[in-house]
Amino acid sequence: MKSQTKLVVIGGGIAGCSTLYHLTQEGWSDVVLVERNELTSGTTWHSAAQVTNFGMNQTMVGLKSHSIALYKELSEDPDYPINYHHADGGIRLANTEEQLEGYRHFTSVARGMGVEFEVIDAAECARRHPLISTENLLGGLWDPLDGDIDPAQLCQALARRARKAGAEVYRNTPVTGLTQQKDDSWTVHTEKGDINCEIVVNACGYRVNEVGAMMGVHHPVMSMEHQYMLTEPIQQIVEAGHRMPLLRCPISDYYCRQEKQGLLVGFYEQDCKTWGMDGIDPNFVNALCPDDLDRITDVLEGAFERMPVLMDVGIHTVVNGPITYTIDGAPLVGRIPGKRNAFCIIGLRAGLGEGGGHGWLLAQQIVQGEACYDTWCLDPRRFAGHGNVELTALKAIEDYQNEFRFHFPHEHRPAGRPAKTTPLTPILVAEGAKFDVVNGWERMAYIKPSPDFTETHSFRFNETFDVIAAEVDAVQNAVGLAEVDGFNRYEISGVSAKDWLDKMFCGRVTRKTGKVGLGYLLNHTGNVKGEATIANLPDGRIWYGSAAAAEFHDMDWLRSHLPDDGSVSVRSLTNDHTILVLAGPRARDVLSSVSREDWSSEAFPWLSVRDAFIGIAPAIVMSVSFSGELAYEIHVPNNQLYAAYLALRQAGEAHGMRLFGSRAVESMRLEKGYRHWKSDLITEYNPFESALDRFVKLDKAEFLGKDALVEAIKSEPRRLFVSLVLNCTHAPAHAGASILKDGKVVGTVTSADWGHRIGKNIAMGFVEPEFAVEGNELFVDVIGTAVPSKVTQPCLYDPENTLVRA
Ligand SMILES: Cc1cc2nc3c(=O)[nH]c(=O)nc-3n(C[C@H](O)[C@H](O)[C@H](O)COP(=O)(O)OP(=O)(O)OC[C@H]3O[C@@H](n4cnc5c(N)ncnc54)[C@H](O)[C@@H]3O)c2cc1C
Repeated sequence: MKSQTKLVVIGGGIAGCSTLYHLTQEGWSDVVLVERNELTSGTTWHSAAQVTNFGMNQTMVGLKSHSIALYKELSEDPDYPINYHHADGGIRLANTEEQLEGYRHFTSVARGMGVEFEVIDAAECARRHPLISTENLLGGLWDPLDGDIDPAQLCQALARRARKAGAEVYRNTPVTGLTQQKDDSWTVHTEKGDINCEIVVNACGYRVNEVGAMMGVHHPVMSMEHQYMLTEPIQQIVEAGHRMPLLRCPISDYYCRQEKQGLLVGFYEQDCKTWGMDGIDPNFVNALCPDDLDRITDVLEGAFERMPVLMDVGIHTVVNGPITYTIDGAPLVGRIPGKRNAFCIIGLRAGLGEGGGHGWLLAQQIVQGEACYDTWCLDPRRFAGHGNVELTALKAIEDYQNEFRFHFPHEHRPAGRPAKTTPLTPILVAEGAKFDVVNGWERMAYIKPSPDFTETHSFRFNETFDVIAAEVDAVQNAVGLAEVDGFNRYEISGVSAKDWLDKMFCGRVTRKTGKVGLGYLLNHTGNVKGEATIANLPDGRIWYGSAAAAEFHDMDWLRSHLPDDGSVSVRSLTNDHTILVLAGPRARDVLSSVSREDWSSEAFPWLSVRDAFIGIAPAIVMSVSFSGELAYEIHVPNNQLYAAYLALRQAGEAHGMRLFGSRAVESMRLEKGYRHWKSDLITEYNPFESALDRFVKLDKAEFLGKDALVEAIKSEPRRLFVSLVLNCTHAPAHAGASILKDGKVVGTVTSADWGHRIGKNIAMGFVEPEFAVEGNELFVDVIGTAVPSKVTQPCLYDPENTLVRA
């Protein structure tokens, strides 16, 4: 066994084997995989191993396409062919029009990645799958490439290829400890000796937190027991002359595929069980949990009704094994928060289908620093500290119970809520607030017009349309007050702080005391990494503000670029303060009546910052606006948040103040052409492609990513960011939808909503450069309909910014 290597992957299931293989594909051969038992002896060996192309965003579709192409290639390798039932086809069933609308949207998402799904009716479902009844069925989504693979053969094939490329695999070598050295390298302690390496990867499946604990980390991953059964041969299958397509059923929560001449049917029962919450038997190896068919009777009945043949066939085997879930159902693939040189590929609940793609994207991140797709939906840093074991268990149960039920737009499920709140949350509840969840924070979405108001989750505009319109109207014509909790906020200090920030941002960062500026951070490829507001406080402190979800991500990024001499330090104030946003033409009047400062535009112009008292509450006030109206961001310490809120609320009464929520903000920021980090600002594009030209100063001597950016702009842009106005009123476009010209995909929507002040349906997105011309007529796919749309200037409301400067 080597005692020194570049990288150690811990765990030899599909996650570890795929990572090892893809690292060698990236050119790294001095890499090692250590496995405590035999390869695939965790969950992988007994997986149902279905391989679908279906995904709810383009990154997921893209990584699954990679899996499919790789598995096909492996299955055709004459030296080591593996069993892969490629392209049996699969149907996701639907019994409501709303589900079908979701499928139409996901078909459009996939099309943008070159993947063709079909939405078919019930009769066509039955024609393609002769064993199903069409009772209570509307139709389904057809995935032509759906199939299944032999999981053990797949891992062996990947490990074999990796070995051939120089990697080494050590079986029966349990990792017992991890020590990080002063130079940030690692010593991996195993029962067979130590291995020193630069980088470690945790790919330990359901034992993820045993290995996490070795580096002082708890990962928000929980295992659930999950069962499938295998039937005896079925005559109709024997006689069919073709393989049965796969089925996935969100109505009764089961899946089904052909296994030999019978069926494999797996269940997601409501009465489900977490597994291993209080520790896992060290001898649970190549093992299963006891069968418990009683638990699945609810879902079994649904499967029987859809496939009556199941009632007459014997069951010969039941498999019950642990399967991992995270807080939002998506895996954790990327950098481990707060750790240097440590990555993970964990929380895989569909690891056989996705594993090829996850290993591919992880290897790119490790070797190149960034993957070909923006990987935020997989980034382990997307949960900022609230993913403890209890919350993770609740979310895992909820997710398991809803396995095939996709989230509708604005749907935030109830388990584990509220997780993060402020002292104002109960007050806002009493005001009638409806909350969405942002990085665990309960963020006010809107005020319900009546206590019994409920929202139908839909891909169309729904009952909230008029509610949001009224909030926007108050902000536009009087004044609104909003709470923005969880906003990410760091204090940056030290003698070199300003010079260092200047190198981190691609534009000019304001250095003037009392001034605020917006800037963009690039990665080493010259693409957009982050967006932040820099505020130079009167006493010399610097505040760095960014999206709530960015808390761990930005901290990692900034800390990994701090100078070694200790001349700059960064500390988080995210959990200490909350923002109250005062916006609208009467905002200054309200502020002046609760604060003795001079708030005139001369004394405190747009993009200023100062200390002030709001009533008796100390605050940092910034004249910045995300709505396009005159606005102030008031940052208040949480222990005096209520005092500030009361003062503003009482003062607002005389000015027609209304509370407004994040949905109104979304409508208004789209009208202004303002972007959202990780919706519109992604690592796939540079700032010029992202239409951020005015925030880039190439004449600066130095900034992170400059060389790569200068190189990149010698070539034509890949795509360009545009705003579009859609000619329809029934539904907004949705992120991931395709933008079309002459029936061909020429772009992708990144965010969209109704602009209430201008009365238009707005979308933003990236399109091929030749189409990014103002006035150009394109089509946007809105839940399956190609809607005529026009490219417009990005700012559709007060383009001269006269209101924010008023
Ligand atoms: C019943 C069932 C059906 C499923 N069906 C499907 C399906 O149809 N399609 C699909 O895509 N997915 C399916 N899945 C999920 C899929 O099987 C998993 O996502 C996948 O196998 C997880 O692989 P992994 O490599 O992350 O974990 P594992 O396979 O558990 O591998 C982790 C490895 O890490 C090793 N390890 C742990 N601790 C240490 C240590 N200290 N030192 C060294 N090594 C260590 C373990 O021994 C193990 O080999 C199913 C799961 C179940 C339970």
